[in-house]
Amino acid sequence: MQGNVHQRLVATFEKLLASVDPDHTREGLKETPERVAKAWEFWTSGYNTDPASVLKTFEDGADGYDQMICVKDIPVYSHCEHHLAPIFGTATIAYIPSNKIVGLSKLTRLTEIFMRRLQVQERLTTQIADAIQHHLEPIGVGVCVKARHFCVESRGVCAQGQVTVTTALRGAIRDEAAAKHEFLAMAGVQ
Ligand code: ZN
Repeated sequence: MQGNVHQRLVATFEKLLASVDPDHTREGLKETPERVAKAWEFWTSGYNTDPASVLKTFEDGADGYDQMICVKDIPVYSHCEHHLAPIFGTATIAYIPSNKIVGLSKLTRLTEIFMRRLQVQERLTTQIADAIQHHLEPIGVGVCVKARHFCVESRGVCAQGQVTVTTALRGAIRDEAAAKHEFLAMAGVQ
């Protein structure tokens, strides 16, 4: 991220500390604005990466493989755009290829690109599915995100341990009962 963005973040967090902590000049907070600025640059670094850059496909690598490819329990650490509070959980991603396949680690990289943005869980789920649909043109795509929201659990009724489940299904995984069932079973939703 550009230097001026970093400096703006540091200044922002200095102001935030001064607003929330009556003793904000104490030693323990001295390096905090610098540290938090770096952390937020990382947590929002997904804006600087084009999903196309990680979804380079192998045209003939599938060798006629036409069954579901599934990567389960990809770690998700994001931030909700309403409170800038952590969202944390897992994503399970599956697709049924139509000639084009990607390296399995790329599904994790794709998830990282979208989770390192300010998000709502619904959009995070949809963006992953749509990127795979667009770049791999598969027969079907399924994405399931299960996540806990710090803004929900730590405020109000403090519903601790409450998990929100979102799915985005495309093509055969949405339209064909057997494929849909197979994906939801892999995702542990049914
Ligand atoms: Zn929130």
